[in-house]
Amino acid sequence: METFKLDRPIKEICLECRKDTSYGSDNHVNRIPCGREEEDGWLCEECQLVECDKCCDFVIDYECVDGGIDDGKLLCRDCFDDIGTDVIIMFIEDIIEKYEVYFGFVKGSVKPEYDDDFLELIDLLRGVTYVESRGAGWAVQQGFEK
Ligand SMILES: [Zn+2]
Ligand SMILES: [Zn+2]
Repeated sequence: METFKLDRPIKEICLECRKDTSYGSDNHVNRIPCGREEEDGWLCEECQLVECDKCCDFVIDYECVDGGIDDGKLLCRDCFDDIGTDVIIMFIEDIIEKYEVYFGFVKGSVKPEYDDDFLELIDLLRGVTYVESRGAGWAVQQGFEK
């Protein structure tokens, strides 16, 4: 346990979580300098993480979308790269709703669980289009049905 002593303050502190970011500490990697009104310090990697508005991954490297339907959203690099393409992020329910009947399943027969039916559905989807695991969902290239 580390105790906080006023006479020996931690110098290289993360201004968000108050953890030590000095060399050799767990929080040194990827820290960035941060200056605030009251004090100067750092931001550790964890406190810089941003939740991607599409895939809900926590990422350090993000882009802010300027214009279009996603205007103002913060996206991870992967999702940002997909903008302007016809790749969208889909979650398990989206995939079932959209492709269950398309691939010949009886509507309502595929449950939103990682069971055999769903894995078969994802396999079939992979067979006809680009599918990549992304965060809690999948990046799926659209437009193959046409
Ligand atoms: Zn921090
Ligand atoms: Zn993302």
